Amino acid sequence: MANVLIVTCNKIRDINCVSCLKCFKAAELKDGEFAKYDEVNIVGMCGCGDCPGLVMPKLTLVLEQADYLERDIDAIHFGTCVLKACKTAACPIDLEKVSKMIKTKMGIPVTVGTHNY
Ligand code: SF4
Ligand code: SF4
Repeated sequence: MANVLIVTCNKIRDINCVSCLKCFKAAELKDGEFAKYDEVNIVGMCGCGDCPGLVMPKLTLVLEQADYLERDIDAIHFGTCVLKACKTAACPIDLEKVSKMIKTKMGIPVTVGTHNY
């Protein structure tokens, strides 16, 4: 079982995919980037911290809360919405760089992307 936190684009979450049904569907069916897990539990979804992409302080806060609430986070996924924002909306997040930083500083593996619908 992988306990997954999804990081979403503050600007287009729930607009790009209404109600985030796509990520929940993909997680349940293990589609897209969730295919590598035996089972997926979405622990939480958080925004990216908004432009210009304050991901690290936002994740620090999320991990503190998860610790307080005794919720494990085994993996972090950047939602497909963040990928779309990078490709089409001049998102300032450097996904490769920030993924390495998260893994190094927080010890949690990062995947870029979620569903492919
Ligand atoms: S990619 Fe996932 S988190 Fe982002 S808007 Fe779509 S369903 Fe929501
Ligand atoms: S930093 Fe990127 S992912 Fe975050 S709100 Fe801005 S465009 Fe969206």
